[in-house]
Amino acid sequence: RCPRRVIDMPFKTSHYIAGRFTDDEPSLPVENPATGQELTKVADASPEQAMTALDAAVDAAEEFAATEPRYRAELLRSAYEAIISRTDEFAETMTLEMGKPLEESRGEVTYGAEFLRWFAEETPRVYGRWSTAPSGGSRLLTMKQPVGPVLAITPWNFPLAMATRKLGPAIAAGCTSVLKPAQLTPLTALLLMDVFDSVGLPAGVVNCFVSSDSAATTGPIIADPRLRKLTFTGSTAVGVTLLEQAADNVLRTSMELGGNAPFLVLAGADVDRAVEGAIVAKMRNIGQACTAANRFIVHHSHCEEFATKFARRVCELVIGNGMDDGVKIGPLVSAGALDGVESVVREAIDAGARALVGGSRIDRPGHFMEPTVLVDVDPASKVFREEIFGPVAPIVPVGSTDEAIALANDTSYGLMSYAYTDDLDEGLTVSERLQFGMVGLNTGLVSNPAAPFGGVKASGLGREGGPEGINEYLEIKYVGIGMK
Ligand code: ADP
Repeated sequence: RCPRRVIDMPFKTSHYIAGRFTDDEPSLPVENPATGQELTKVADASPEQAMTALDAAVDAAEEFAATEPRYRAELLRSAYEAIISRTDEFAETMTLEMGKPLEESRGEVTYGAEFLRWFAEETPRVYGRWSTAPSGGSRLLTMKQPVGPVLAITPWNFPLAMATRKLGPAIAAGCTSVLKPAQLTPLTALLLMDVFDSVGLPAGVVNCFVSSDSAATTGPIIADPRLRKLTFTGSTAVGVTLLEQAADNVLRTSMELGGNAPFLVLAGADVDRAVEGAIVAKMRNIGQACTAANRFIVHHSHCEEFATKFARRVCELVIGNGMDDGVKIGPLVSAGALDGVESVVREAIDAGARALVGGSRIDRPGHFMEPTVLVDVDPASKVFREEIFGPVAPIVPVGSTDEAIALANDTSYGLMSYAYTDDLDEGLTVSERLQFGMVGLNTGLVSNPAAPFGGVKASGLGREGGPEGINEYLEIKYVGIGMK
């Protein structure tokens, strides 16, 4: 049951530059991954047009940097309220262009909007300091100032939250921005522009262009010395390329890159609780999250029980079009994504893994993969070593906590990790020893606007959210003061 649905946007689906939607003819199709059908078209920026977005951000920068914190806070607060009041519109747009179940899209609307509320509250709390030099005499004054124009490049998996997590602190800090959303999910980003427009964000403070050629449009912007900050969420491979480009102008950078999250079920774990956490950590967003549990490392005493109960729970998940009631597993975002996930599963099975449930794509329109639980997995196989980005859970048994930690840390990534145990000592020790930016201790969901989200190693640089998040958009200036 996949009725064709053409989305009806309340504005022209073009770019939002210098405070208005441009007049360009939409030419780039946006697909519904649940049906494979076209939803609508959006405009496709040329490199020259993308540069006009930076021009607008640069033109607005000085005046916006000088605005009162309370003014910026109120703008963010109004945008937060406007998003919440348009929850259904945002949620349906997200589900239609990206596939996640409507209930999860509603969750993302709240989560995404919360970044604007959080940073509204942080706006007036940017402080410098005053101190006496240790040897006396001079005084030290520090102040924080906006870093300058920002380019934000965002992925398709959380089309609202990834944008607000960057634009919220940028606005709070007094920076102007250019947003380049993923080509697969431009509509949510454009709706966000409509919200900013409706609350009176001054022209040029946030600009957004859509492009079918990200490298060609963002490259010249990154090379332009007027840009001062690059913030990116996406794959490690693209992040590395962007860091190389950013080096030429020594840009401030924030990079939220790939993950390979281990999910540890330790000797002291409550298995039923771990199964519930695993469902959330693995199946949320159809496994398409950089925080998604990628590898299940289970103490041998729990392995059979955990695998059996987890597989049973996975069987209960309703698969289908995310617009339909009760659906928990929607389609993967694209045909390419489905091919990739299916191929790592096939490779693991060819190497001796067994699928307790699932194992292949579903033969129906759209890009559906069966939720899959794999046992007898070789830890050297791709499914265990690389980010899966799909509803696939490989399980490997271990004999001790030390072995679990060693296996968990044996990766170039370091974003998210999960550990289940009721033994407090074990839980805290393991949290210290896991080489990841984040640990979910007895929880499968840690994302929170008040928390510093980010990774170590190949998973990135910088933190988003929390009191830390605004600092990514601020420079510290030091004034040394001579005293008589
Ligand atoms: P994903 O695998 O989640 O799509 P990507 O890293 O490919 O992650 O893409 C994340 C974002 O980066 C998207 O907005 C995409 O258009 C953009 N992007 C991809 N390649 C490049 C590039 N070479 N230069 C700039 N942006 C890029």
